Amino acid sequence: MSWPVIRKSAAERAGANLEDYDAEAAAFDWAAARAELSGLPGGGLNIAHEALDRHVAAGGGDRTALRWIGRDDTVRDLSYAELTEQANRFASLLRSLDVKPGDRVYAVLGRIPELYVAALGTLKAGAVFTPLFSAFGPEPLQARMEIGEANVLVTTEALYHRKVEAWRDAIPSLRHLLLAGCPGAAPARCIDLEAALATADPVFETVATRPEDMALLHFTSGTTGRPKGAVHVHEAVVAHHVTGRTALDLRPGDIYWCTADPGWVTGTSYGIIAPLTNGVTLVVDEAEFDAERWRRILGEQKVTVWYTAPTAVRMLMKAWDSDPRPYDLPALRFMASVGEPLNPEAVLWGVEAFGRPFHDNWWQTETGGIMIANFASMDIKPGSMGRPLPGVTAGIVERAADGSVREALEPMALGELALRPDWPSILRGYLHEEERFRKCFASGWYLTGDLAMRDADGYYWFVGRADDVIKSAGHLIGPFEVESVLMEHPAVAEAAVIGLPDPIAGETVKAYVALRGGLEAGEPLRRDILGHARKRLGPAVAPRDIAFRQNLPKTRSGKLMRRLLKARELGLPEGDLSTLESEER
Ligand code: ATP
Ligand code: MG
Repeated sequence: MSWPVIRKSAAERAGANLEDYDAEAAAFDWAAARAELSGLPGGGLNIAHEALDRHVAAGGGDRTALRWIGRDDTVRDLSYAELTEQANRFASLLRSLDVKPGDRVYAVLGRIPELYVAALGTLKAGAVFTPLFSAFGPEPLQARMEIGEANVLVTTEALYHRKVEAWRDAIPSLRHLLLAGCPGAAPARCIDLEAALATADPVFETVATRPEDMALLHFTSGTTGRPKGAVHVHEAVVAHHVTGRTALDLRPGDIYWCTADPGWVTGTSYGIIAPLTNGVTLVVDEAEFDAERWRRILGEQKVTVWYTAPTAVRMLMKAWDSDPRPYDLPALRFMASVGEPLNPEAVLWGVEAFGRPFHDNWWQTETGGIMIANFASMDIKPGSMGRPLPGVTAGIVERAADGSVREALEPMALGELALRPDWPSILRGYLHEEERFRKCFASGWYLTGDLAMRDADGYYWFVGRADDVIKSAGHLIGPFEVESVLMEHPAVAEAAVIGLPDPIAGETVKAYVALRGGLEAGEPLRRDILGHARKRLGPAVAPRDIAFRQNLPKTRSGKLMRRLLKARELGLPEGDLSTLESEER
């Protein structure tokens, strides 16, 4: 690939948690990783115990677990001991409401302290926690509550009136509504959460769940179609903990900021669990993205490890165009990104703006935790997702007509990214969709639905989702490669490409482009961008056509919805749009 490799110095390698990738990957074993956690007497394992109780028992209760920054800049700190007490109160409250282990507790909350209290209290009580995007409309909320047979919903009074009240009686399983932010008395048949926590028992013995007990239900982003409910168990905490240490380089004393929305799997695995099991301080900002605010938080809070997403990086790059002031962040040690391919441009911009690169990593709702990553100690090949985590066996496979798969061992063979299904946080099923779950496995592999390549050094390169890959005149074209080349053009802020049917080539490539701030779309620019793409990619792979947009359609977890661009272009049904956040303009 044509981008320069970013080398890590000897000091950077020696200082990293994972110092020597090859040696540690070879020696790794999940049983030993499990022994890093204390577990409960009698073989029980509970995520909340590892995230909270263990630290308090070891004398770490005074350390700050959560530093919450409100929209209006109010700051509220909760120590590990205080967060544990609040979670105990929440668990006691659930018990007093006759919520049993295995019951489902949903949260529709923004980034407010009650979210963390509810998540950890639910797990302490042995119940199952399911977060949903608070920006969902009433319909997608109701649909997901129905699929998961919700028993309890934790939300705010404002969200309740806007999005829940109208359908609450349509869900027979839903027994209790707990509302944060009730200015007066709670609405009829709802419980004022603050008042109930104030009188709940602050002592609660964490339920001794077994490793295979269901802990979390997470809905996928719905990028490719109807969202699936992925079931995760308490054993997943082993992967959360270890990958937090190895892939995110977390260590006690860190100030860690994860910008993911709490309604998405990243918001739980790396927005709550991994940082707490690793004993760090979690910075939580209630507000939405704002380039200037983010710059201020990174500096004022002395963030040491920052986990964000490609859309956010691209928005920061847009803001940088009008205000290219380098970030001065001496405390920041490590930056990582997940959710979508991170274009090489964005990795290199990190070095220009922050003096250090973004480390891309790959995983899915189904995998529960990071599977492939660029580690702190490893040289970065911009555009590559990095190498499999210690304990994770990845491969590139080809499917045969009989449904079996075969591993493609030659470097840069294009195939489906597959994983040996033996890590602790792998999904245990899709709720009520046995058949869909079964189809994820073949010949001893878990099949991810993403296409990728592995180079001779063992680095993985994302090509595209199997559904998004374009077949044109005998070439297989990955949208990511084309989009990354389009983004090299100085006028391009964002790009999405799709394949359109063509009687001769099979498919041709069409690109949708959003321009950088202040630039006017027009014929000369269109020709210039097409010319650049042809020169870099060759005429067979370069887009045939470009359409300019102000904004591209994205899911709430920040993923480009190429399928929607395609459906609209071809006049086909638009499909499930429940997770669509930003519309095409
Ligand atoms: P659905 O499965 O409902 O269509 P989704 O796959 O977008 O939605 P998630 O589980 O949130 O739902 O996203 C996982 C997917 O996101 C991966 O399979 C991959 O396609 C993409 N992805 C995540 N991280 C990366 C990355 N670093 N590089 C490239 N793609 C990534
Ligand atoms: Mg998926």
